[in-house]
Amino acid sequence: MSRSIVVLGGGIIGLSCAFEAALAGDAVTVVEPGRVGGQASGAAAGMLAPFTENGEQPDAFFRLCLNSLRRYAEWVSRIEEISGLCAELTAAGSLTVALHEADLQPLQARLAWQRRFGANAELVGPGRLREMEPRLHPGAVAALYCPGESHVHAPKLVAALEAACRRLGVRLLEHAGSIAAPRDPVGGAAPAVETAAYGRVGGDALVVCAGAWAGAYAELCGFPIPVHPIRGQICAFDLSGGSETGAVGSGADSEFVRHMVFSSQAYWVQKRDGRLVCGASEDAAGYDASVTARGIGRLTRWTPRVFPFLDGRAPAMTWAGLRPATVDGRPLIGAVPGRPEVLLAAGHYRNGILLGPATAAMVGSLLRGEQPHLEAATSFAPDRFARLGTVGGR
Ligand SMILES: Cc1cc2nc3c(=O)[nH]c(=O)nc-3n(C[C@H](O)[C@H](O)[C@H](O)COP(=O)(O)OP(=O)(O)OC[C@H]3O[C@@H](n4cnc5c(N)ncnc54)[C@H](O)[C@@H]3O)c2cc1C
Repeated sequence: MSRSIVVLGGGIIGLSCAFEAALAGDAVTVVEPGRVGGQASGAAAGMLAPFTENGEQPDAFFRLCLNSLRRYAEWVSRIEEISGLCAELTAAGSLTVALHEADLQPLQARLAWQRRFGANAELVGPGRLREMEPRLHPGAVAALYCPGESHVHAPKLVAALEAACRRLGVRLLEHAGSIAAPRDPVGGAAPAVETAAYGRVGGDALVVCAGAWAGAYAELCGFPIPVHPIRGQICAFDLSGGSETGAVGSGADSEFVRHMVFSSQAYWVQKRDGRLVCGASEDAAGYDASVTARGIGRLTRWTPRVFPFLDGRAPAMTWAGLRPATVDGRPLIGAVPGRPEVLLAAGHYRNGILLGPATAAMVGSLLRGEQPHLEAATSFAPDRFARLGTVGGR
């Protein structure tokens, strides 16, 4: 039976959940106070790198990331098919570079861990490294190569998801302004929010996907939601002029970075339009999403240490976004206890682009009334901080 689902927040997580529910035949409305994709999701580097981004433990979060990576290609091709737009999913693989002998030992430990979990990773010595990534600093001693990691163009993925949602009949209410959500609907009615621009918007279920702003729904949920913003400042170098044909990477002399490259201080990932994205700071600045000289300075200082051909080159673009962080680094995905019609999917911190498909799958099964398996139910329970008494501990 078709239900009406209201998704609160139009970032990657809200759009992914809306897409999933619309595919299942539900009537979906997305309520977004500003512009769809206008916050963290539009600022992201788009890396899908669960092995590189996670610590060396096979916990529930890592397994969720891996599950999402495995869903990605099929998910993106469905979105592209419905929207007619390209998200630029690129199977680039990643290189975590050791610039000094002392960096080698931690890479070896990571290699053993990545292999245990199916990464097909290998340690690459200096000769092969130069062939694989010719623009890298010639002094780099080795790199951990993880071929299964990939990336998308995050703003293009968001645009494709938005278009796919529209094609499936999802109502997108942008520029909704302030949104109020009382805990108990009047007279036991279905859950609803009151918006400045569209008045009351309600449905059979609400899904809160408000990223770093999810805490605003504490009253609706009946417990605190300790999601806080961590600013990520990021920049891009314009390498589009590096090839005579204009096709990035096609000429022998082209300035092309083939893999996602990680060092201890920054990462680099090249997009198809020739922009080499370099990120990202992690600073606590409240809800201030502006760029600072200090935040970008670290990235521009590190870039020539890894890519000497960029010495003296200034980034063509700088921007920032607010990652939705939680105290334990894991997202909140689940229903409010006792209120199965109110769900949360927020707090994806550094991995929200990667986690779109797995989160949507979890939310989709919750909307169908299915119970999550025990590990997910406990690891991502939205009320876990209230139960543990750790709210305010960040
Ligand atoms: C610089 C940077 C680089 C990143 N790189 C990567 C990467 O390479 N790979 C990766 O996987 N992740 C990356 N991330 C993280 C990723 O961007 C986030 O985890 C992800 O975008 C979170 O998605 P979201 O939909 O929860 O949040 P958002 O995209 O922030 O969306 C939340 C939406 O909720 C809206 N909203 C605000 N208040 C309310 C309200 N009261 N009610 C309803 N809606 C509201 C906002 O306007 C916003 O549109 C990066 C982040 C940054 C900042």
